[in-house]
Amino acid sequence: MKSPNFYASGGVDRAAHLRSDESWIAEQLGNRQARIVPLWRMQNLIGHGTTPQGVVLESSRGLLMGAETVVFLGLVGDVPHFAADFSGYEDPPLEEHGQFRDMRGVGQLLSHEEGALLVYARATLQWHLRHKFCGICGSPTEIREAGHMRQCTNADCNSQVFPRIDPAVIMLVHDGGDRLILGRQRNWPAGQHSVLAGFVESGESLEDAVAREVFEEAGVPVTDVHYHSSQPWPFPSSIMLGFAARATDMTLNVDREELEDAAWFTRDQLLNSPEDDTFRLPRKDSISRRLIDGWMRGED
Ligand SMILES: [Zn+2]
Repeated sequence: MKSPNFYASGGVDRAAHLRSDESWIAEQLGNRQARIVPLWRMQNLIGHGTTPQGVVLESSRGLLMGAETVVFLGLVGDVPHFAADFSGYEDPPLEEHGQFRDMRGVGQLLSHEEGALLVYARATLQWHLRHKFCGICGSPTEIREAGHMRQCTNADCNSQVFPRIDPAVIMLVHDGGDRLILGRQRNWPAGQHSVLAGFVESGESLEDAVAREVFEEAGVPVTDVHYHSSQPWPFPSSIMLGFAARATDMTLNVDREELEDAAWFTRDQLLNSPEDDTFRLPRKDSISRRLIDGWMRGED
């Protein structure tokens, strides 16, 4: 069995049966044994130490007075963990504990468990920020199920909305031999390359989406579409569904609206990547890198 991708399988027992137990949740929030994962404007609190570490605080009612939204994440061992949003503060709070930083920059420097816990907290709170109002009638919504549902406050509407994730396919396209396709978008850091990716559309299978995206972006038809693994990518709310596919025609016809460039690369080119502004491989916490590393090792 493959080891989990970064941000997946972080060891949190979501204990969904406890979400509706309001008295238990309230009791835990006042319990110093419980832990709080703080966020401020979608940034996670990272300790001041030289090795980045996610900061997790003891729970207290005083601390949580300043939180706008609190969500029960689950149990780590038998310790309840909550995410708390402190975005109401004009300046970042809790500075004595660390600095608020964007996980898109710092995530890959954390341990697997910390990374998974922190992006889970970030993704859940971001969903709340984007669903303050009912999509049907426009009335305010209220938090329910310890943060895993929101309900419309208009009694005539009463609609419920649950956290959503957006499925995206990400695919390593190879030629059946020694080459694969990498591309880059204009707004990426200099030299950054990745395998191709795109969102799944309504009415498509994942395999359909893989073939469509590769053809749209690179002009290459593919076959032998095989699932590899998946990765939560909550920036803001995706899950990346990883595939491999074999090109049946090697001639690239790159869509320059979508991509700055895409090209075939050999194993040797990747093994000797300069990792500078001319060419660098995807960041280490990404499934894109995982797919490439696996392919270079000859994994299926
Ligand atoms: Zn409504």
